[in-house]
Amino acid sequence: MSGPARFAVLGHPVAHSLSPLMHGAWIDAAGLDARYDAIDPGPDPDQFAPALAGLSGANITLPFKQAAAALAQSREPRVERLGAANVLTRAANGAWAAANTDAPGFVAALDEAAPDWRGRAKSALVLGAGGAGVAILDGLSEAGLSDLVLLNRTSARAATAAAQVANARAGDWGEMGEAFAHADLIINATSLGLNGAAATDWPMARAKTSAIVVDAVYKPLRTDFLRQAEDRGLQTVDGLGMLIHQGALAFAHWFGHKPDTKAARTLLLRALKERSE
Ligand code: NAP
Repeated sequence: MSGPARFAVLGHPVAHSLSPLMHGAWIDAAGLDARYDAIDPGPDPDQFAPALAGLSGANITLPFKQAAAALAQSREPRVERLGAANVLTRAANGAWAAANTDAPGFVAALDEAAPDWRGRAKSALVLGAGGAGVAILDGLSEAGLSDLVLLNRTSARAATAAAQVANARAGDWGEMGEAFAHADLIINATSLGLNGAAATDWPMARAKTSAIVVDAVYKPLRTDFLRQAEDRGLQTVDGLGMLIHQGALAFAHWFGHKPDTKAARTLLLRALKERSE
């Protein structure tokens, strides 16, 4: 029995995901015979692979990015390097190919929101060594930044992650003030600020007046971290662009063309507003 090609985002939890709305709109706009759902396989990693049955492609979010990389029969170099994938694409023979579009998605979002950042930024500070932080670090390294510092509350995790990425080193969480003062680009990739819980309390006062401040968190869109930077007159970039561009690159993997990212931003801003009311 054939029907529309099936795509989904898999995560636990996943009900909050904006990906079905975004990909659904892109699929409709392109007139494709496809559908895109959210699938929660539950907390057990053993349930991840069975949940992929019948899918032609998938986005992968917490906590399955490592499982997705391990399960695939082929992996792009970035997935080999980081051991994490956020996109799976099924080939005609049924084999899965794994990609990581979080890294180039972050860079594409920065290119869009701060087009002159490449000329302005020689150094970057990434706070958070989880999946998002390591992907962002890798994307910035690939974009040519040669001075990359990674800080993480759990320092061993930062050391392991920084060792995977060229030109990156792990710093000391306790020396955040010096790190803020040095960086041209400062990125929050921790889960602090997500849904308004436990805000960041970091030395924004030490940041250069020329610094660009970016948050990976997009709910709320204006986090305390970004507000503190705005209060100092610093340029800020919210996390919605990364979500949209990683999704657009995934869409291109599956369907061969990039969708309309500007229309997606309008759609998602409306959805975020409705959800916060
Ligand atoms: P993750 O792998 O679970 O990592 C969470 C990170 O937050 C770790 O570095 C963790 O540090 C840190 N953290 C948690 N609580 C903390 C606290 N109280 N103080 C200091 N650090 C704390 O999650 P992830 O996938 O990397 O996601 C991180 C954030 O990025 C999330 O808010 C997520 O929503 C966002 N994100 C956005 C996009 C996008 O497209 N915009 C994509 C992916 C993720 P420890 O190692 O010390 O626990």
